[in-house]
Amino acid sequence: MRKGKVFLVGAGPGDPKLITVKGMECIQQADVIAYDRLVNKELLTYAKQDAELIFCGKLPGRHALIQEQINQLLVEKAEQGLTVTRLKGGDPCVFGRVGEEAEELAKRSIPFEIIPGITAGIAAPAYAGIPVTHRDHASSFAIVTAHGREQKGEDHINWQALAQGMDTIAFYMGIGNLHHICEQLIHHGKPASTPAAIIEWGTTAAQRTVTGELSTIEQKAKEHHITNPAIVLVGEVVQLRGKINWFDEQSIEVKHDPILIK
Ligand code: SAH
Repeated sequence: MRKGKVFLVGAGPGDPKLITVKGMECIQQADVIAYDRLVNKELLTYAKQDAELIFCGKLPGRHALIQEQINQLLVEKAEQGLTVTRLKGGDPCVFGRVGEEAEELAKRSIPFEIIPGITAGIAAPAYAGIPVTHRDHASSFAIVTAHGREQKGEDHINWQALAQGMDTIAFYMGIGNLHHICEQLIHHGKPASTPAAIIEWGTTAAQRTVTGELSTIEQKAKEHHITNPAIVLVGEVVQLRGKINWFDEQSIEVKHDPILIK
């Protein structure tokens, strides 16, 4: 039988309209859609009526389907000749494990495409009025995962290079690790007064932003009970929010209902 094809698609950061045209076409044409937890469920309403929808969601620390099962699922469905859309939050190549899935497909000679998406580390700050680069404030930008490896004694982050060489840093999955992030950056030379922001549920109507400095942001996040998903953004660009914050001021009707994501 002719093999199907797998599309590894970025669904964007939350606002469903932030998917690409190509990504939307992949949703509309799929026989099978395998989607993650942070994908806005409204996007699934564009699927064919008889499309099979499979939740592959992962709660932090709890995996509905383990990665190998997901890889296997994509292979099986494609080998049945089906068109499969693997839908991931944000961009599939940014902490989305697309590499592992694509590798498996390549190994089995199953055709696939990667459709980029808008990543939360750029989009959530943009909706909070913070451009990650700016001619006067930041000419470099890093995307970093601050997943809890440090607690297991496996800190792979080059803190010195980040603290001294990067103007803007976006930490993904950073809330549980906020203390460590701030401590390490300050310890390796970032001024304690460096502006910092945390954006929770970015680009949805539930978006909340707290701002402070490296030395105060942990306390602020605690006060406001900020949880994941959230981007921790560090750098002078955070100050621009004072001038160009636009989304928070819009009426609730133009924002997107977060219930469909949560
Ligand atoms: N591939 C995704 C990232 C997956 S890792 C992307 O490109 O955006 C999951 C982490 O992404 C979360 O813990 C959080 O740090 C971040 N994230 C995803 N969606 C978010 C949102 N709407 N607002 C803020 N952070 C978000």
